[in-house]
Amino acid sequence: MDYKEHIAIVQDWPKEGITFKDITPLMDNGKVFKSAVDEIVDYSEDKEIDLVVGPEARGFIVGCPVSYALEIGFAPVRKEGKLPRETIKVDYGLEYGKDVLTIHKDAIKPGQRVLIVDDLLATGGTIEATIALVEQLGGVVAGCAFLVELTYLDGRNKLDGYDVLTLMQY
Ligand code: IMP
Repeated sequence: MDYKEHIAIVQDWPKEGITFKDITPLMDNGKVFKSAVDEIVDYSEDKEIDLVVGPEARGFIVGCPVSYALEIGFAPVRKEGKLPRETIKVDYGLEYGKDVLTIHKDAIKPGQRVLIVDDLLATGGTIEATIALVEQLGGVVAGCAFLVELTYLDGRNKLDGYDVLTLMQY
């Protein structure tokens, strides 16, 4: 499947100098979206995953159908102040800015095998912070899956030793 046909490239958004990869045309096509989700499900099948974790907001869009297909739970990672119960947090750097990510303290049981899913790997700041949250709670990161990888931003170098799947690369 040529997924790239279904990615819209938006120059200078959200800021000048950023070339944004918009996945909404891919999501808009049910067959293509299902195929992408199925590839992540296939990748996960032999990894004995207990839980899918995804950072807001596009990590929910890609991660939730994966958790549904695997018949396992989904735990959201969110910006500070969005989760209602006790959380742990970590600071992180973005391709365009700085922020804090949080997860509910009881979201993961020690030893649980976690698949982290997001739409896109850029500098790797978001995935690095998400891994830190999972590992602080005693989870084991069994895989990381993304639709898109921006290889020129070198996010992979933050993922040494982790199992990573990306469906398309720029
Ligand atoms: P990173 O932390 O620099 O790897 O950036 C990845 C995060 O920022 C992901 O959660 C993406 O949703 C978001 N992001 C960064 N660049 C893009 C883009 O070009 N398209 C869609 N999302 C992006």
